Amino acid sequence: MSHANPAQIGGQLAVLASLQRDFDRASQEIESHQRLARRLKGEHPVYKVTKIPEKIYKKDQTQQTNPLSKLPAGVAAQIWQDIPTDADRVMLALTCKAHAETYEFLKMKKINTTVNNLEKRVMFLPRPVRYAHNHRLPVLVRLPTWMPANYQLCYKCNQYIDLTHPSSSGTWEGDAREVRNLRADHEATIVGPRCPLCVVADHLNLIKDTPEAKEYERKAKLVKQTF
Ligand SMILES: [Zn+2]
Repeated sequence: MSHANPAQIGGQLAVLASLQRDFDRASQEIESHQRLARRLKGEHPVYKVTKIPEKIYKKDQTQQTNPLSKLPAGVAAQIWQDIPTDADRVMLALTCKAHAETYEFLKMKKINTTVNNLEKRVMFLPRPVRYAHNHRLPVLVRLPTWMPANYQLCYKCNQYIDLTHPSSSGTWEGDAREVRNLRADHEATIVGPRCPLCVVADHLNLIKDTPEAKEYERKAKLVKQTF
C-alpha cells in the first residue's frame, strides 16, 4: 500500500461506497419483506403494561402544575383508581413527573380483597394483567400530539409508523373519520387507517395459509438469521 496512488485509493473507496449503498438498499428491502411476512402471519410484538418514557422524568417539576399531588395520598390514590381506563391513567401520568412516578408506583401495587369469602391479592388499579391489542390501541389513539409529525398510527398493526422509513412507501387505506373521538374498539382496527404493509397483507388474506405463503414467511425468517 506504500506505493498506492491516491487516485487509485479514491477510486476504490468510491466503488466500496457504491457497494455500501447497494447493500443498504438490499437490507431495507429485506426488512420490508420481513415486516410484510410478520403481518401475513398475524405476528405482533409482545404487548406489555405501559411504561412511562424516561424523558417525562427529566422535565423540571417546578414548571409543572399538579394539584392532584397536593391532595392527601389516600384521596389521590382513590382518584387514580377511579379513572375509567388504563389508557386515561397513562395520559394523566404523561402530564408531569410527579404523576408519572405515582402511576409507576400504583400500577405495581397489590391489595388484599375478599371474593366469595376467599382472600385474594389483586392489583390496586383495575387494569389487565395481560396486555393485548385492545389494551394497547386505546393508549396509542391518545398519543398523536405527543408523536413527531412523521409518525402515523396504523390501527391494524397497532403501532406508529415512521413515514420516512423506506418500508413505509405505498398507499394507506382506511378512513380516519371513522375513528374520531378516540375510537379504539375492534371495529376501529378494520375501518381505521392501515399502513401500506398491512394493506398488502390484507390483499393476500385469502392465500395467507397456503404453502406458498408459508414459504415466503420461511424465507423472511431465514434471511433474518444471517444478520
Ligand atoms: Zn400496519
